[in-house]
Amino acid sequence: MPTEQGYSPLVLIVDDHPDNVEVLQVRLDALGYRTACASDGETALNMVAQSPPDLILLDVMMPRMDGNEVARRIKADKSLPYIPIIMQTALDSTQSKVVGLDSGADDYVTKPINYAELQARMTAALRIKSLQDKLAEMAITDALTGLFNRRHLDERLDEMFEHSVRLHEPLSVVMFDIDHFKKVNDTYGHQVGDAVLAQFAQLLKHAARDIDRIGRYGGEEFMVLLPGTVIDAGVTFAKRVRQEVETHQFEYEGGALQCTISAGVAAFPHPGIHNRQKLVKAADDALYVAKTTGRNRVIRIGDEEFNANVKEVDDQHADGTVGGGNSRSN
Ligand SMILES: [Mg+2]
Repeated sequence: MPTEQGYSPLVLIVDDHPDNVEVLQVRLDALGYRTACASDGETALNMVAQSPPDLILLDVMMPRMDGNEVARRIKADKSLPYIPIIMQTALDSTQSKVVGLDSGADDYVTKPINYAELQARMTAALRIKSLQDKLAEMAITDALTGLFNRRHLDERLDEMFEHSVRLHEPLSVVMFDIDHFKKVNDTYGHQVGDAVLAQFAQLLKHAARDIDRIGRYGGEEFMVLLPGTVIDAGVTFAKRVRQEVETHQFEYEGGALQCTISAGVAAFPHPGIHNRQKLVKAADDALYVAKTTGRNRVIRIGDEEFNANVKEVDDQHADGTVGGGNSRSN
């Protein structure tokens, strides 16, 4: 039962009494769970921070830090995924259960433990965790491409920008846009358009490093965040992607087609860029210049063509005729 799709959930057993831990561990091992153990709250919190388990069996009565406090701290830590907590309590009083549930426990079992009941409650808790994990994943993912969505990418950029400012590290942002994408949709239909978007996403994934963050920013617009990267290296990356796309056969059911992309590159540090919004706007402006000066090219902020065209972009932004992406002619 626990080994659904070959995956064995990791259960952290927290109890100050070694005999209790041993009995639980033997039982859960036999049922196919992976187990880890902690004999006090402090150790448990460290283990959770190191590698979050899928479920915690938490003793309430422990010296120094009791189970209620452990549960409170785990549930208050926003950096952790959802981890169901089942309290084990010797106190079969309504009051102690209420305190446990109030402090963040998801369920409880009373000692001495009835193992059939424990297993049923664990299965239920893991089912909820699996749904929670799926929801958390969906909330940050663009469904079509599997890349990050715009909101998540903006959040990552906030963190990266702050990090860059603090440590004086460079940060490049590349905006990509598929040229004449509307024509692809109009000529071949939206299914083929979707196939092109998904394949371009794969291509970006292959081109980027593990530390880079890639997202779909709008319809056919993609953004890549390159931490620790000066603008020259950002431009090199963008040019490599542009070149790969130019020679790539975008396959769809019944054929293949070719596309080109345009890209705009901006980077921090830069005299005019003091926040995340300015950085994105600069990359977006550079992309706009790449579009208006022929497409299938990479433009960086500050180069000759950018400077010759960017005032016009600012003017158009000011009177609202060119927005942040969708109103740009593709
Ligand atoms: Mg105890």
